[in-house]
Amino acid sequence: MGVKEILLVKYGEIILKGLNRSKFENMLESNIKRTAGADAIKEMKASQAIIYIIPAEGVDIDALAKKISKVFGILSIIKAGVFPKDMDVILSEGVEYVAPFLKDLKTFKVEAKRSDKKFPYNSPEISRLMGGEVLAKCHHLKVNVNEPDTVVRVEIRDNEAYVFADSAVTKGLGGMPVRSNGRATLLISGGIDSPVAGWMMAKRGVEIEAVHFCSPPYTSELAKEKVISLAKILAQYTGGYTLYIVPFTEQQLAIRDNCPEEHLTLVMRRMMMKVAEKIAQRNKSQALITGESLGQVASQTIEALGVTTDAVNMNILRPLIGMDKEEIITIARKIGTFETSILPYEDCCTVFVPKHPTTRPKIESVLKSEGKIDMEYWVNKAVEETEWMRIEAE
Ligand code: ATP
Ligand code: MG
Repeated sequence: MGVKEILLVKYGEIILKGLNRSKFENMLESNIKRTAGADAIKEMKASQAIIYIIPAEGVDIDALAKKISKVFGILSIIKAGVFPKDMDVILSEGVEYVAPFLKDLKTFKVEAKRSDKKFPYNSPEISRLMGGEVLAKCHHLKVNVNEPDTVVRVEIRDNEAYVFADSAVTKGLGGMPVRSNGRATLLISGGIDSPVAGWMMAKRGVEIEAVHFCSPPYTSELAKEKVISLAKILAQYTGGYTLYIVPFTEQQLAIRDNCPEEHLTLVMRRMMMKVAEKIAQRNKSQALITGESLGQVASQTIEALGVTTDAVNMNILRPLIGMDKEEIITIARKIGTFETSILPYEDCCTVFVPKHPTTRPKIESVLKSEGKIDMEYWVNKAVEETEWMRIEAE
């Protein structure tokens, strides 16, 4: 029989939230529950800035910790052994339990805490006994009270005792619980940038919805499947959400056939923003999110971004604006979207690639180009024909 184990979740920034703290804790707890799956957790309770998670019978605790480590707002997850409140058992079985987590370390110290003041040993006594036992069993270790490689902890609670080492840790992502900072609609393409942009805003607590523009037959069913795969990876962090799929072929052809070539991309981007804004208003989003990065392409110069921003009244969040491609790729790898993003695909933007796009557009002349088509008609048509699907983490 193995030792019964639980997870201790430490959270970060939400502690700063003062009065709102319990609301934030509740959000974090419900996000943990949702991410873990309905049946994976037997019990969960918060106490002194730690959330204690008791897994359900038969659940692989390491897999559970890994899954939960994707919940924003968590700094770290520590695995602890649960023992009866019997000092002899705590010393013998407790030390045996933590020993594997001390294997590659040189120094440690013990910290004990007891919420049950009737326990026959006080905290300094527990620390001393436990320290002695660790030294006796792990000959490679020395005590260092100031800068230990790890802290071995003993917590005497009301019904049981927890023994764990800080080195038994799965690192979290930090950030704030999703849903604690409003809702926004991500314009998601099949590229590298936009999934990262969505992830970064979700990390700041924003609940995500997503919209994708496709232009069949110029873009294939496979390109759409790829976006759905990316959306599902993102959902591991954000929880489930709605992906709106906008058929955009006729709109792009109308632009191509009627607007001056130098402004094709900008008129298209303005139309995308207008469609996304309408969808966002319907799903009660407070902002749009794009993966734009200053200077990355002709449509992302400071002037071009201004022209795009001008198309809508809604706030546009561009979390990648100051990042280099290399930095964006590093995050894409870390969050698991990179390998999917680099699969070959056609984006709807490839329906037309102007040979000479303007990099310093003036809003007046773009508006003039835009006047060649009935913008309102095409935007409304796109919104009407939009389909949606539910995205869940896989
Ligand atoms: P990405 O890697 O995210 O595709 P990109 O560098 O290719 O970005 P663009 O194609 O200019 O840049 O697109 C800029 C942003 O516009 C994207 O990050 C995304 O937010 C949005 N976007 C582009 N194409 C689409 C699309 N087909 N559907 C939804 N949004 C899109
Ligand atoms: Mg793209």
